Amino acid sequence: MSVAFHGAHYCWMNGDVVETERAQVSAMEPIYLGIFEGIKAYVGKNILSKGKLNIFQWKPHIDRLWRSAAVNGLEIPYTKDELLEATKKTIKMNEFDTNVYIQPRVWPRAGEEDKVHVVIPVWKFNTILGKGNPEFGKIRRFMVSSWRRVSSDALPPQAKSWANYQNSSLATKEAKRCGYDGALFLDSRGFVSEGTGACLMTVRNGKVITSPVSASILESVTRNTFLEFIPEDLKIPVEVRDLTRVELYASDEAFLCGTGGEVTPITSVDDIKLGDEYPGPITKKIADYYSDLLAGNVKKRASWLTPV
Ligand code: PMP
Repeated sequence: MSVAFHGAHYCWMNGDVVETERAQVSAMEPIYLGIFEGIKAYVGKNILSKGKLNIFQWKPHIDRLWRSAAVNGLEIPYTKDELLEATKKTIKMNEFDTNVYIQPRVWPRAGEEDKVHVVIPVWKFNTILGKGNPEFGKIRRFMVSSWRRVSSDALPPQAKSWANYQNSSLATKEAKRCGYDGALFLDSRGFVSEGTGACLMTVRNGKVITSPVSASILESVTRNTFLEFIPEDLKIPVEVRDLTRVELYASDEAFLCGTGGEVTPITSVDDIKLGDEYPGPITKKIADYYSDLLAGNVKKRASWLTPV
């Protein structure tokens, strides 16, 4: 049996499930030209497929992988259904019975740049959601980074390419150096953009506010999901508009949303404490509902889940 990375003995590579340890490529690969996706599958808790894994929002994630490939001139030589079957097979081969992170990766082959490698690693992760989870309410001090979020006139922020994460890495390292837990980006115009690996939502006077796609954000699947269920299912008003740095400071609550970060509450920005209660009541309400959705407890949203 191979060495396991977070319990991942197997991954899918260019058409086959292989032992992770044997999923090898040349050191000359131009991996920096690659694109990828980050998707999660959660264990069903209740109504829908109890105990089974369900992939959350497969379709918008895989559609974004195709868009990221197209804008970067890469052609994926499989169908979306083939990659879904590949993902299911890899999860099953690993015999995962807990929540799983899925990260399809596509990059040009060394010396044959018109062809690509397609690899699907899957591994276990721990959720910060769920009643009584101590991770959720941890103190998180954020700073506004001195680095601006990559802008559309230099790199496409809406594509999920590794290159964009150099930008995120600079901001995260700066935040850690300055003693903060994380960084938030402004866009090139000086309006609030997003986090280094998640979108930002703020709450003020009972209303959720989030930056538009034109503020150089990644077009987040989680953000789009939230924009649908927050007003429709929770009856909380949402505004998509440019947000200034001072408005961010004046928020009653703020949280990051993304596949990886799920709902990550933010305690303060630039040492300015947000609101009176942490995590805030609306943040908690949204996180609890999202947790229910992921666990398959919301019947009307069953189409967002794809059983493994
Ligand atoms: N912004 C950035 C920069 C990200 O890396 C991510 C994570 N993919 C997100 C936003 C959230 O996107 P999603 O909800 O699709 O995971």
